[in-house]
Amino acid sequence: MAEHESLEFGKADFVLLDSVSLEEFMANLKLRFEKGRIYTYIGEVVVSVNPYRAMNIYGRDTIEQYKGRELYERPPHLFAIADAAYKAMKRRNKDTCIVISGESGAGKTEASKYIMQYIAAITNPGQRAEVERVKNMLLKSNCVLEAFGNAKTKRNDNSSRFGKYMDINFDFKGDPIGGHINNYLLEKSRVIFQQEGERSFHSFYQMVKGGSESLLRSLHVSKDPTAYSYIKVGGQVKSSINDGADFKAVADAMKVIGFTPDEIQTVYKVLATILHLGNLTFGVDGDTTLIENSKVVAVIGDLLATKEENVEKALLYRTVATGRDVIDKQHTTQEASYGRDALAKAMYERMFCWIVGRINDVIEVKNYDAKVHGKNTVIGVLDIYGFEIFQNNSFEQFCINYCNEKLQQLFIQLVLRQEQEEYQREGIPWKHIDYFNNQIIVDLVELQHKGIFSVLDEACMNVGKVTDEVFLQGLNSKLAKHAHYTSRKLSPTDKSLEFDRDFRIRHYAGDVVYSVVGFIDKNKDTLFQDFKRLLYNSSNPVLKMMWPEGKLSITEVTKRPLTAATLFKNSMIALVENLACKEPYYVRCIKPNDVKSPLLFEHERCRHQVEYLGLLENVRVRRAGFANRQEYPRFLQRYKMISEFTWPNHDLPSDKEAVKRLVQGCGFEHDVAYGKTKVFVRTPRTLFCLEEQRDEM
Ligand code: ATP
Ligand code: MG
Repeated sequence: MAEHESLEFGKADFVLLDSVSLEEFMANLKLRFEKGRIYTYIGEVVVSVNPYRAMNIYGRDTIEQYKGRELYERPPHLFAIADAAYKAMKRRNKDTCIVISGESGAGKTEASKYIMQYIAAITNPGQRAEVERVKNMLLKSNCVLEAFGNAKTKRNDNSSRFGKYMDINFDFKGDPIGGHINNYLLEKSRVIFQQEGERSFHSFYQMVKGGSESLLRSLHVSKDPTAYSYIKVGGQVKSSINDGADFKAVADAMKVIGFTPDEIQTVYKVLATILHLGNLTFGVDGDTTLIENSKVVAVIGDLLATKEENVEKALLYRTVATGRDVIDKQHTTQEASYGRDALAKAMYERMFCWIVGRINDVIEVKNYDAKVHGKNTVIGVLDIYGFEIFQNNSFEQFCINYCNEKLQQLFIQLVLRQEQEEYQREGIPWKHIDYFNNQIIVDLVELQHKGIFSVLDEACMNVGKVTDEVFLQGLNSKLAKHAHYTSRKLSPTDKSLEFDRDFRIRHYAGDVVYSVVGFIDKNKDTLFQDFKRLLYNSSNPVLKMMWPEGKLSITEVTKRPLTAATLFKNSMIALVENLACKEPYYVRCIKPNDVKSPLLFEHERCRHQVEYLGLLENVRVRRAGFANRQEYPRFLQRYKMISEFTWPNHDLPSDKEAVKRLVQGCGFEHDVAYGKTKVFVRTPRTLFCLEEQRDEM
């Protein structure tokens, strides 16, 4: 049904499989991948397999073929989904969203960019200047965000190390008039450390490789990335990336977006400060902790537009309030190193969020008068980290996997709800479908007082001992009976739990063993107030603006800052609430192999992804209801040639009657239901037959 390609390319919709089994699913996926058909539908969900080669399927001519067409009329494509979301928004005044999921390297970010390009290409036929400006900004923002938020990892040379949700606002004509970006949990630990074979964020190498002589001189930065210990590992990594050229492209994009020269300079100064911080080492002289390379401190003072001695003091001392007194407490070398790293990470993260905020300033809908222009509708695009199961899983993986549980929960609710609503709208009886509901795992993580995040926050607030072990004990005592939680202590004979520090969650996508090491520290995410004050007191106004909370002196800081887990949880709850009121479209990305090969379809790897993306379940749900639904005129247009009553035109009172007549003539009436505006076809076989008869004409 979904395309008029011959079956040599496999089935264009998994709903059409003869039987729903994993083997059949995999065979179809593989066949299509090998034939260069990287997209396949499950109803209105697009399954995409990363081709790892340039495909000639995104050009202007292809865009034209999808514009305004229905999903099943053309071969499966991202453009069809983008068009469907756009049409729903325009025709029915609905806010829609496109949720793109899949593991690292599966092709989410590329997909999101093609979707944005498609939307940009099909809108603004009138060439209104303001709309063109907005479109240009939206597209340009990708380049900037990727420079600061992406990095080369072992899995992907351009891996997004943050989650991204972008709203595009449209006016009543259906033209983009603005947008808004939300970013989630940047992997800031990468600023100070990378695994062998990986790099820090692109921005550092771009500046070092692409910055002009005079820029680098002013920043006291050399052209050799291996001179900086924070990016040293990554500085040796061979990469296909052209950092020098990218530096210029990013600088241009920032200019176009409207970053002022001072702002851009400040960004470079922050990057340079971080590089210099990484080279600071601490030593002791008697009772005194000192900085071994004090020249670097002078450089940092210069870059941060503050006095050298302020930098030194913030690095070596901590102001503490004891009763009414305020004293300067000297750090140990260990504390000083901890503080230095925390400062580097925080400065980068803060700058990243500030960049997103500046882009939002420029793209947000301004001066929009809803009374005059009618409703402003939205398409949201979500490109967010997929499920992660590594050798070593820590706090970051825990957050990311929780995010995927939330999205799975949303998928369950929305797919069911969407189907249900359509049946109701069309006046067709609804049959309940059962499948695994992961709410229990969402609760395990986020429930107040009982959930893992709460236990973690409690452990962080302990007055006495605050250690990862205390946290683990808390988990064991609160969750001992939970079906989806266990630990080494609770299951001593379980081989997958190798160490005392391990606990295991049974996620909907599979079991993941987490190590508690570092949970407390990452959750508290402490940055000494002294650093915030240092940055706030800078005479560089841009930098000062990034650190408003530095205004407070130690005696004024009363509230504990929210923990990383709580912040993340709140942002996920807000995200899901936002998506839940939109009509969703899904893109499920699959990574065919680990070696970035265009030829290799690693069966086991793909099978695993198909399983944890819940694709088979998705097919079943889709088949349990009606596999296909089409508006009466569309249906007729497509199949009228197979019935004498409808070819070339019918004389029945309505298209609905004509469709009934056509279906009766073919003997399919048992398999079809007639809604108010659409005909619903239960089994794919029927559509198949219709398609075959059509082809024979
Ligand atoms: P991460 O979670 O690490 O950010 P991702 O899912 O966003 O991963 P992408 O960066 O989109 O993955 O894709 C990884 C690489 O795969 C791309 O840099 C590109 O080389 C290739 N790729 C992905 N999609 C396509 C496509 N449609 N056509 C050609 N190449 C692609
Ligand atoms: Mg990505």
